[in-house]
Amino acid sequence: MQIIQNYINNQLQNPIDNQWIDNYNPSKGEVYGKIPNSNQKDVEQAVKAAKKAFPIWSNTSIEERSEMLIKIAQLIEQNFDEFVKAESQDNGKPITLAQKVDIPRAISNIKFFAKAITQYNSKSHESVHTNSINYTLRKPIGIVGCISPWNLPLYLFTWKIAPALAAGNCVVAKPSEVTPMTAYLLSKICIEAGLPAGVLNIIHGLGQTTGQAIVEHPQIKAISFTGGTKTGEHIARTAAPMFKKLSLELGGKNPNLIFADCDYEKMLSVTLKSSFANQGQICLCGSRIFVEESIYEKFKTDFIERTKKLKVGNPADENTNLGALVSQQHLDKVYEYIQNAPNQNAKILAGGNKVKVAGFENGYYLEPTVIEVNSNRCALNQEEIFGPVVTIMPFKTEKEALEMANDVRYGLSATVWTSDLNRTMRLSNELEAGIVWVNTWLNRDLRTPFGGMKDSGVGREGGFDALNFFTEPKNVCIQYD
Ligand code: NAD
Repeated sequence: MQIIQNYINNQLQNPIDNQWIDNYNPSKGEVYGKIPNSNQKDVEQAVKAAKKAFPIWSNTSIEERSEMLIKIAQLIEQNFDEFVKAESQDNGKPITLAQKVDIPRAISNIKFFAKAITQYNSKSHESVHTNSINYTLRKPIGIVGCISPWNLPLYLFTWKIAPALAAGNCVVAKPSEVTPMTAYLLSKICIEAGLPAGVLNIIHGLGQTTGQAIVEHPQIKAISFTGGTKTGEHIARTAAPMFKKLSLELGGKNPNLIFADCDYEKMLSVTLKSSFANQGQICLCGSRIFVEESIYEKFKTDFIERTKKLKVGNPADENTNLGALVSQQHLDKVYEYIQNAPNQNAKILAGGNKVKVAGFENGYYLEPTVIEVNSNRCALNQEEIFGPVVTIMPFKTEKEALEMANDVRYGLSATVWTSDLNRTMRLSNELEAGIVWVNTWLNRDLRTPFGGMKDSGVGREGGFDALNFFTEPKNVCIQYD
């Protein structure tokens, strides 16, 4: 049994009321650890520690904060294999994905914001006719809350805490209770790095207990949240009467528009990734595939053939393409969508079944699944499934493709495959999405604004947008003679 503890005031400690929840290994469907189910008392202790630390941390020089973050990133690098193994075991994702994406990106997040803060600046406005100058101070907010989901655990956890800390805030953070392990390893790293007590507090537990206590705490002035749209809505409702600053990164149902003039081979291999990477559990996965009529049949044949070749198996095996889904509950939810497909006039073209992996019979495995739909209005195309399930459907004209792409409550990302520059310009203007990828997918530059439109969220993370979120602007106006 691996016991995870809270990290408060630079100490690893058990939850005050000694309440625990099970931590599962999804590849085996077995409990392998216990994590605290913290409550208001633990959050209160963390807030007290953060409050004490804030005057000191917010007054350290930018260089000192930057160096501390770099040190933390380097310590993760030194323990790279341990982090990779822990992420794969906790989440069920292929070890190769944790190795190539999750942990390297967590390290990059921390290094990026360690450097970004040294370049962060504010504006000044001179009004000669009134003999005055305005300038903007950007002050850390104080104590901020960071709440992250289970799909990219350390990747998204560090994406929030790194800019928060770089900007001089003290943090009370909660990773998903479904994947708490790498955040716990990070707390050990912070102790080793000598991060001052109370600057970062990592508290574990369920959303409705620990998460709720963080959102409700009156001294936590801003909440950066990534997770489901429904949870985001609840958090917004809780936080609004306290006028907390909110950044909400929520669900998606992203369109993938494939035109006949695209680079077909590149499109096919990237579309396979954008459909099934991380078992389709990436908010940016292109789960609605629309294909121009003239290449639809060819695409259908080739895509199905490639999908069927993907190997579902033990995440620790380097040849595995898809590991386990994150939990039994999530597997049940995704599977229900597949079972309901025939009721929506939809046809399962590939996959659709649970998989029994030899030696891991109780794991949460599902075949990569391709479903042909005949309307964008069906639940399969309108609701976020968040698993290895994509729909495909032909379109006749660019206008029709655009209308279907936008006809959904979400607006996180969109992908377009075409070699026509004019079409690229038209669609990137018209698509209702926070990110539009053209002839690429999940190609991320950390300086860019990241986030969604519509029900996919409020606000933007990344680059200076994240530092803007984690600071309070103060305008100073001086008149001179
Ligand atoms: P979730 O909303 O269930 O949980 C996310 C986090 O919120 C967890 O830490 C959870 O414990 C916490 N939480 C739950 N209820 C809470 C409450 N009442 N108060 C405070 N915190 C609470 O989401 P999930 O199932 O962990 O993650 C999957 C979802 O995340 C998907 O919808 C996916 O699209 C979304 N996601 C979005 C992005 C993005 O950048 N837009 C990135 C990754 C995942």
